[in-house]
Amino acid sequence: MKELTANTLKEQILKKLITDKGRDVKEATSKDIYYVLASIVNEEVKQRWFQTRKKYKDEKYKEVYYLSMEFLIGRLLESNLLNCGMLEEAKEALEQIGFDYVEVFAQEHDAGLGNGGLGRLAACFLDSLASLNYPGHGFGIRYRYGLFEQRIIHGNQVELPDYWLTDPYPWETRKEEEAVVIQFHGDVHMHKRNDGALEFEYQNTDKVMAVPYDIPVVGYENDTVNTLRLWSAESIFQNNTDTLEEHKQFYRDLDHEHSIEQISGFLYPDDSSYEGKELRLKQQYFLVSASIQNILKHFKLNNKMSLRHLAEKVVIQINDTHPSLAIPELMRILMDEEGFSWEKAWKVTTNVFAYTNHTTLSEALETWSMEMMQNLLPRIYMIIDEINERFCKGIWFDHEELREKIPELAIIAHDRVHMARLAIVGSFSVNGVARIHTEILKKQEMKTFYNLFPDKFNNKTNGITHRRWLLQANPKMADLITDVIGPQWIKRPKQLISLLKHSNDSALLEKFDQVKHENKKVLANYIHQHLGITVDERSIFDVQIKRLHEYKRQLLNIFHVIYLYNELKENPNQDMTPRTFIFGAKAAPSYHLAKEVIKLINTVASIVNYDPVVKDRLKVIFMENYNVSLAEKIIPAADISEQISTASKEASGTGNMKMMMNGALTLGTMDGANIEIHDLVGDQNMFIFGLTADEVLNYYQHGGYHARDIYNTDDRVKRILDQLNQGEFGAHNIEFKDIYYNILYHNDPYFVLKDFEAYLETHELAERAYRDRMTWLNMSVTNIAYSGKFSSDQTIQEYATDIWKIKRV
Ligand SMILES: *Cc1c(COP(=O)(O)O)cnc(C)c1O
Repeated sequence: MKELTANTLKEQILKKLITDKGRDVKEATSKDIYYVLASIVNEEVKQRWFQTRKKYKDEKYKEVYYLSMEFLIGRLLESNLLNCGMLEEAKEALEQIGFDYVEVFAQEHDAGLGNGGLGRLAACFLDSLASLNYPGHGFGIRYRYGLFEQRIIHGNQVELPDYWLTDPYPWETRKEEEAVVIQFHGDVHMHKRNDGALEFEYQNTDKVMAVPYDIPVVGYENDTVNTLRLWSAESIFQNNTDTLEEHKQFYRDLDHEHSIEQISGFLYPDDSSYEGKELRLKQQYFLVSASIQNILKHFKLNNKMSLRHLAEKVVIQINDTHPSLAIPELMRILMDEEGFSWEKAWKVTTNVFAYTNHTTLSEALETWSMEMMQNLLPRIYMIIDEINERFCKGIWFDHEELREKIPELAIIAHDRVHMARLAIVGSFSVNGVARIHTEILKKQEMKTFYNLFPDKFNNKTNGITHRRWLLQANPKMADLITDVIGPQWIKRPKQLISLLKHSNDSALLEKFDQVKHENKKVLANYIHQHLGITVDERSIFDVQIKRLHEYKRQLLNIFHVIYLYNELKENPNQDMTPRTFIFGAKAAPSYHLAKEVIKLINTVASIVNYDPVVKDRLKVIFMENYNVSLAEKIIPAADISEQISTASKEASGTGNMKMMMNGALTLGTMDGANIEIHDLVGDQNMFIFGLTADEVLNYYQHGGYHARDIYNTDDRVKRILDQLNQGEFGAHNIEFKDIYYNILYHNDPYFVLKDFEAYLETHELAERAYRDRMTWLNMSVTNIAYSGKFSSDQTIQEYATDIWKIKRV
């Protein structure tokens, strides 16, 4: 593909337009061009895909399977072109035929099969696995509706269904021959065999077909193409309606079919769940049963050895607890279908699974009703019960000192099945996603488990693919970096560190400034087009983009904006560097307070943006429908990266890494991966403020924080809360009462008031720093230089050597 030039690509496009679409270039739409380009890429990719599969099989590589309920992959045309080494040529070819490449790429529906960080992590990991030539694949669900599309109407979030498959999706291939049957409900019958072993038979189960759709995962400028396999639920249903009885049956089946298709219908829009639903449990089992059956089938096909050796060739990473039913599912198949004893099956199983923990928020630790599980998955429940029984007995007899802790360790306790406990007991590795997060797991949340299994626990700090988040999203910056330090950083992102040698070269810093400025102009134009608001591209672009959650504290950010507005009203002529506060966030539809915060941000925006007193020194922009594509537009233009979670709450964060890599300076708390950014760049290159995790955890344990004291003593705080309570922002004065009550009557559970003063002071520091251009630019380049550490290539390298023990092809 290296010889491919823009010219030959252009010829191919023109030819294919006619053969595939029956149109010449004058009649063609951007969508035609999109499909034609995708088809050209596919031809190239499918060759490599086939070769990769063959290689893994022939050479019997150990393979890793990444099981995740979410893959937030975003659009693929541009990244596939990039990874195939065709992106520049494609952009040029499109220009030659008079098409805007931005518009052509935008024809692809952004695949939003995830909520946020957890799903995006899975997508970045697949990109790195393929780019590093590791045999590693993703397994997920082909939801027909991804995360809802967000509209803002009169300041409120309105959710629309995201039916992303209206147009054919050019990257997927349906693989009927790989379909498997999944069984729900029914009865389990036990027989004793002559040799005394037990046999289990399932009757009256509801059978559902899982049909995979494969998406190629293209490595960067190598020949590796791995697979993202997404399962779709279908019925095993026949349509013959000759007699009345058959006719009736047809409609019953239709109903049944509908309920089956629901299994891969919707992505649950809760990233730290508010309610569990049976359908969600069905989805989880559907994913794991299909995946495990598939993995075993391929193991048998590729390796002529007993399943006892499974762990030599297969390792399965479970992304959070959602896929942890894979553990009893593998036990079930090994025992009930392959005739393994419990002991043998358990030995295999606990050498195959590794578990990633993503949260310590107690409301997000997954549990299921015992009854629901027993009813939906009777055999799986029996196995979990037995795992639990043996685990608890083990503690009782071998760890007398822990006997009284059994209720907090047991997998089944108080009529609930605790998924994290199941995942820990059934895996050989348990990892947190940033250093502080892993430490909190070991010292607090999972302390007893850590004492039981110290060798299982390890840290793997999250990462992001620098290919999508720098090369693709910010090509001008990438080119400039290559001009300065050569192209080696692209394959070895840690080499970005060579930028440090140049971080005082003022001519060069001017060039970085210019790129950032151009990026800001592009975003300003986009904002103008979509929201009709003019923003000054010389203002500070202060960005907070992430799911809306109390712990992420968008509220603290908007309180600061209100404070600045109040200051300007009081003192209209004060000198202030113009600022543009940019927000992007979806709230789970059932999360009332989160939606109130969205409303508040939009309400403040509608006042501030149009008040003549402000004189354009302050703009508030809420960008609707935050997703991967929007992130790619905003991040290259960010000056300040708001990472202001209540310390101890953000497991890692990855938005912080994306913005650092694009030269934004972090204004944040000592939480998640911010701490590791701080290790690298130090106080002098970022803006740290607020309570530490130890202080927060201490307050939770021992009390001593009284939000009302701050309200009573800090006039700035009192003013803002009173404005909320008195309806100064809002059509009626009850609009934001819940926010007010949550802070003053529920004692501000996320310490917004407690950190408020430090936050203001830190913003003042940042504003002053921004005025000293050369110093700011030096800080910015220093951040880019150190960001290579957060490439997911680095993270995947660590997973591969420490956990998976897999080799590069
Ligand atoms: C990176 C990313 C996230 C995660 O952002 P955090 O700031 O780490 O919470 C969420 N959503 C999208 C679309 C992303 O690209």
